[in-house]
Amino acid sequence: MAERSTYAELHQRSLADREAYWAEQAQRIEWHTPFTRVCNNDNPPFTRWFEGGTTNLCHNAVDRHVATRGDQNALVWVSTEVGQERAYSYRELQAEVMGMAAILQAQGVKQGDRVLIYMPMIPEAVFAMLACTRIGAVHSVVFGGFASVSLASRIEDAEPVMVVSADAGSRAGKVVPYKPLLDEALKLSAHKVPQVLMVNRGLAPMPMTEGRDLDYTALREQHRGAQVPVVWLDSTAISYTIYTSGTTGRPKGVQRDTGGYAVALAASMEQIFLGQPGETYFSTSDIGWVVGHSYIVYGPLLHGMATILYEGLPIRGMNGEPDAAIWWSLVEKYKVTAMFSAPTAVRVLKKQDPAALKKHDLSSLRALFLAGEPLDEPTASWISGALGVPIIDNYWQTESGWPILTIANGVERKESRFGSPGIAMPGYDVKLLDEQTGEELTQPHQKGVVVIEGPLPPGFMQTVWRDDARFVNTYWKSVPGKMVYSTFDWGIRDEEGYYFILGRTDDVINVAGHRLGTREIEESLSSHAAVAEVAVVGVADQLKGQVAMAFAVLKDTARAATPEGALQLEGELMKVVESQLGAVARPARVRFVTALPKTRSGKMLRRVIQAVCEGREAGDLTTIEDPSTVQQIKDLVAVR
Ligand code: ATP
Ligand code: MG
Repeated sequence: MAERSTYAELHQRSLADREAYWAEQAQRIEWHTPFTRVCNNDNPPFTRWFEGGTTNLCHNAVDRHVATRGDQNALVWVSTEVGQERAYSYRELQAEVMGMAAILQAQGVKQGDRVLIYMPMIPEAVFAMLACTRIGAVHSVVFGGFASVSLASRIEDAEPVMVVSADAGSRAGKVVPYKPLLDEALKLSAHKVPQVLMVNRGLAPMPMTEGRDLDYTALREQHRGAQVPVVWLDSTAISYTIYTSGTTGRPKGVQRDTGGYAVALAASMEQIFLGQPGETYFSTSDIGWVVGHSYIVYGPLLHGMATILYEGLPIRGMNGEPDAAIWWSLVEKYKVTAMFSAPTAVRVLKKQDPAALKKHDLSSLRALFLAGEPLDEPTASWISGALGVPIIDNYWQTESGWPILTIANGVERKESRFGSPGIAMPGYDVKLLDEQTGEELTQPHQKGVVVIEGPLPPGFMQTVWRDDARFVNTYWKSVPGKMVYSTFDWGIRDEEGYYFILGRTDDVINVAGHRLGTREIEESLSSHAAVAEVAVVGVADQLKGQVAMAFAVLKDTARAATPEGALQLEGELMKVVESQLGAVARPARVRFVTALPKTRSGKMLRRVIQAVCEGREAGDLTTIEDPSTVQQIKDLVAVR
């Protein structure tokens, strides 16, 4: 498989000789019937991968490994919330998945039916996902942290025949009952769900609705030892739907295929994530997000690795005690070779004692991969210093399913470059376009919209669930005169093809004709020692079109405790921006808050801040972590 070729050659071949390249990659998984056509792009932008082939995600993730590594760990569940730890071998995982699949089938769930999974981070959530893909049901996992309104809108969109849920989750040792939220959501939803399968953890009361709610424990007992053969599916059959984070607006239902996704993930495990079969992979994400789908569940298992499913905070130990090194103790215990997290999680750790990390033997770890948001320099250098392993930034989206930009150290050893998530991955024809003219920018350091020329590689979304028109209109029509997929992120590229992401296209401020990225201004403000975190938005201004408004969280709130102190610090911060970026970028105001509005996945909700500043309705708040952050900004804006 393309040995000895350099990464540049490999990438070139993945585009110039697309079909041959992916036909080769497709050998990484098992096919029940071989495909007859690698890439059908006759009807762009709808691309169909590995047509004619039949396969199954669950077969490739579980059954395939039972013969060769049946007794090795497949799923390791660690919950610091309930102080429990449990490992499932591939053989045990297969038995659990078949048990769950038997329940689904007995309740009439068939190929193509949707099953909505609203679960905490427990093994049954993974069993349910794999049971769905085993029998061809389409899973739609909704993040367990969402409340009833967000959940109801997703139930309405997915129209599931069944919801799988649990009595409760737990956060920081506090039980979070799920059932009342679920019941409320089921009531709110116009789509009526006929069956609800409940896993009872014994954490919270679980009132059951007669004729609708089913108890998993009882049914599991009934189906013990069940043998459920996999259903062979067309490569293009839908495996799951998942919603985007909703950072910029109403979440989009991303629809994924079967064969293309399996192939892309299998390739990424070796080329990008440096994992080897038999080793342990640890992604700290949640199954409610795309990273959880691809790199807690499917990627590691497709690759024959053990995967850690972690329920809990990064700073709390097995007995509920403060422990900033809990993750690293798991790295040591399970000899984790590759780990995946997010900058937002690392920022939490950064506030703790760095010495805690040094207590553990981290020699098994090859790299820490971070994704989801821009990786700032202080966070990157802190964690790299603390761990002593390469920190590998990777840029992608719910839509893509796997990294678009990063470093493929599994192909050719390359250094990451600070501030850049890396270069284009195989199959990705990434370009920068001028937003106004649609012209391709070919010179280094030109700033443009990051787009991908079709056909999109395997693993990428097929369409928006039940809304082909939204897929075409949202993603493929944003640049004039060009049918390309827009990421809606700004970027630049250097001489060697390294990209730098400058923020989202709707996070651009136009001050008196000057176009400024909010991220640039935020980075400038962050360079001041007093600032812990900051958000900058563009606010409509009669004179200048837009002005920049900044909201900062301070490391030490005392600095802005008095009006004089706040005013003085505001002046200092404005000077910083003025000297670094120029007067035009200077925020009109810098205000101080104790926390900023973020999505549940930790992404800044700039559109909400902007709406409040402009006196508009805040819009869709269903994905927000803490609504009181919006009130703080409202209060500040009210007293001008
Ligand atoms: P929505 O599309 O619903 O507004 P979202 O874009 O936040 O929500 P995700 O798919 O979870 O939903 O996030 C993808 C986005 O996150 C990217 O488009 C990019 O803006 C940002 N992102 C992800 N990884 C990185 C990274 N390594 N560096 C910079 N930005 C990143
Ligand atoms: Mg997005």
